Amino acid sequence: MIAKKTLKLSLKSLRDFAKKQLPDEVLIDLDRRDECPVEIVHQMFNPDQLAIQLLFLPEEYGGMGGGAFDVYCICEEMARIDLGIATAAFATFLGSDPITVGATPEQKKIWLSKIANEGTLFAYGATEPDAGSDLGALKTTAERVEKDGKVVGYKLTGNKQWISNGGIADAYTVLANAPGGPSWFIVDKGAPGFTHDKPEEKHGIRLSNTAALALDNVYVDADRLIGGVEGQGLLQAQAVFGYTRVMVAAFGLGAGWAALDRAIPYSTKRIQAGAPLSEKQGYTHKLIIPHVTHLEAARAYIEETSERIDAGNEGSLNTEGAIAKYMASEAGNAAAEAAIQAFGGYGYTHDYFVEKIKRDVRITIIYEGTSEIMEMTISRDRWQQHLKSRGQYYHDEARKFESLHVKNPNVGADVSALALHALAEVMEKARVGRLTRYQHILLRLGELIAYAECAGSLSRRAALAGDGKLHEKAVQRFDATAQATIARVFAREAALKVAEEGLRWVAGAGGVSSAEISAFEAALNLPAIHRAQAGLISDMDYIADVLYNRVAKRVAMSA
Ligand SMILES: Cc1cc2nc3c(=O)[nH]c(=O)nc-3n(C[C@H](O)[C@H](O)[C@H](O)COP(=O)(O)OP(=O)(O)OC[C@H]3O[C@@H](n4cnc5c(N)ncnc54)[C@H](O)[C@@H]3O)c2cc1C
Repeated sequence: MIAKKTLKLSLKSLRDFAKKQLPDEVLIDLDRRDECPVEIVHQMFNPDQLAIQLLFLPEEYGGMGGGAFDVYCICEEMARIDLGIATAAFATFLGSDPITVGATPEQKKIWLSKIANEGTLFAYGATEPDAGSDLGALKTTAERVEKDGKVVGYKLTGNKQWISNGGIADAYTVLANAPGGPSWFIVDKGAPGFTHDKPEEKHGIRLSNTAALALDNVYVDADRLIGGVEGQGLLQAQAVFGYTRVMVAAFGLGAGWAALDRAIPYSTKRIQAGAPLSEKQGYTHKLIIPHVTHLEAARAYIEETSERIDAGNEGSLNTEGAIAKYMASEAGNAAAEAAIQAFGGYGYTHDYFVEKIKRDVRITIIYEGTSEIMEMTISRDRWQQHLKSRGQYYHDEARKFESLHVKNPNVGADVSALALHALAEVMEKARVGRLTRYQHILLRLGELIAYAECAGSLSRRAALAGDGKLHEKAVQRFDATAQATIARVFAREAALKVAEEGLRWVAGAGGVSSAEISAFEAALNLPAIHRAQAGLISDMDYIADVLYNRVAKRVAMSA
């Protein structure tokens, strides 16, 4: 992990670099021309210039040894600038991941030092035309080349699809089926038989180079097999999902906030019906506030997960990474969509930028695992916890928030507890009725789990903020009072969603008869969840006042 001061300096360098090299006009022009600014990407990796890669690399190989929390902060900042450029950095990080996780010490020294010292740009070649979400279906092969009975190299043959940096990378990590199973290989740019297609013409992240790769009997020496043992590829890919999904989560967060940070000031200047839009509750409470609460709920979860990854004793935290990615990318996408609406007709044009952000952020709910795959990942894991604990997993979690509420009565912990108890009841009904045989129910449970866990996370962090105990690098855009208000608003939504949608899916799948509905409603504690909605509008008003710097005015008026 790097020092707080160093992180601050790195964030500032990144902002200064973007201000100089990537002002809005340049970004809009490159987007319009559908062009990846290769020169700027190289400058970002140049050890004598920005050298962004150093943050991601371990110190022993010349990097700065940034942890998950540092990487989240940097990724959020990069996404605020441009998600296409951020994706170029992400691709190098992903490309070097199998090396960081699974390479031999010699391979690590060679390749990670090269990235640090020479700014080598990597691409990560996993996806294939017929193997996307289901990577196990990959068809690219790695045929052994033997000499005197010894494996001296491999010949790779196959096709890769949608590879970020595919046309501009210096080196590629390529997943291929060796005789011993899926394995990662490092392939140089320009190796005989190795070609890439022209850049894809994409909906968004148009500053990112995305290209298909073709490998036709591409020879690599045996020392290019990462880790030196065949069959480790899928394990190596999975070992870092917690971490890499937190990065994409931070992309969703950064892009979502970038959109809101354009809509909020715009709404103070745009006068309609005699007053600025920022003073119209029907505008702020629909187009701004819900997105603030969703983004901050996702941030709470990202920060907790990053802290846990950095603490290093809980494995790869794949499910938590999935929840963070799911919530942040969906929140970022929705925030950008609302920002277009907030700008009205102007939002629908290229020049007002939120339109570009919306197209860009859309990728975060697709790459590094689609939202549907995230729902499945989340649901499957927590379903096991539910079974193992005989239905007590979320009841136990809820009880922790009941205790938190006693100490911190203003952070919505009581309502988060209602959400978690209701979730436990929904999952139990699903177990009794064997409802997860319906894939749709399984995936909807994933969504409800993500909401309930994020509500808890946000309450917990609002309490820490109130006690002055947040992580020293935590992003504190809001003071403790505002954080508590945001936590209450989100907890109300999560509890209502879990209970009402849970009821809907359980009843819809035949898990509860009409005679049993009332008892199930009582078990979900729907009346308490409905009562907890009281105070919602005044809390939303307060968040609006904070966002629009009207808190002092509000205090003066009430005095
Ligand atoms: C711009 C861009 C950059 C990318 N960069 C890279 C990169 O650098 N390296 C790399 O290896 N890959 C990269 N990808 C690939 C990306 O990770 C995949 O596109 C993604 O994982 C989805 O795979 P797919 O496109 O094959 O879609 P599919 O897997 O075919 O999915 C199509 C739809 O079906 C849903 N679906 C899939 N399986 C199931 C299921 N079992 N149950 C229910 N629903 C399901 C999905 O959620 C999705 O909505 C990139 C993609 C894009 C578009």
